[in-house]
Amino acid sequence: MDIRIGNGYDVHALAAGLPMWLGGVQIPSENGFVAHSDGDVAIHALCDALLGALALGDIGHLFPDTDPAWKGVDSKLLLEKVVSLLAEYGYMAGNVDITIALQQPKLAPYINPMRVTLANILGLTPDRVSVKATTTERLGFVGRGEGCEVWATALVIGGIGHGGGCGGHGGHGDGHCGCHGEGEGHCGCGHHE
Ligand code: MG
Repeated sequence: MDIRIGNGYDVHALAAGLPMWLGGVQIPSENGFVAHSDGDVAIHALCDALLGALALGDIGHLFPDTDPAWKGVDSKLLLEKVVSLLAEYGYMAGNVDITIALQQPKLAPYINPMRVTLANILGLTPDRVSVKATTTERLGFVGRGEGCEVWATALVIGGIGHGGGCGGHGGHGDGHCGCHGEGEGHCGCGHHE
């Protein structure tokens, strides 16, 4: 089994009259996020944490905002794609922890719906999905109500499925670990230690 950790960070600006999506849940609000996608800044940070755990880049690289395919896209779909990508490498999330900094509205009523929504996509039970929210005591751009800032941490577990951590190709070198099938077993795939 191979255990990795990743972190993710994202910011989106707020503007009047746009929908507010956070953690896959629509939040009633006069303001929403300015974005090429639906602006779900929590899911974006989570995707980056998951990708970061495997050093697979970031969602801006995977789903560029210059690509019309992602215009207005439901970020839950992006998370599904990231989860599928991890599975291709023989990994899945073990647990995740997300901190959302937003001045208003208060997010308390939406925390559990976010946990359930994200857990369903991650293939986890909600007790492995933490979502926390804080204001910044009216300090900084978050405190002035100009935007939302999110940090995410993801533990990712490998050695699952078909190939376990080495790209799922029997340890013959076409995975991301760079071991070329005869390395020192640092990738944890178990095929060539
Ligand atoms: Mg973003």
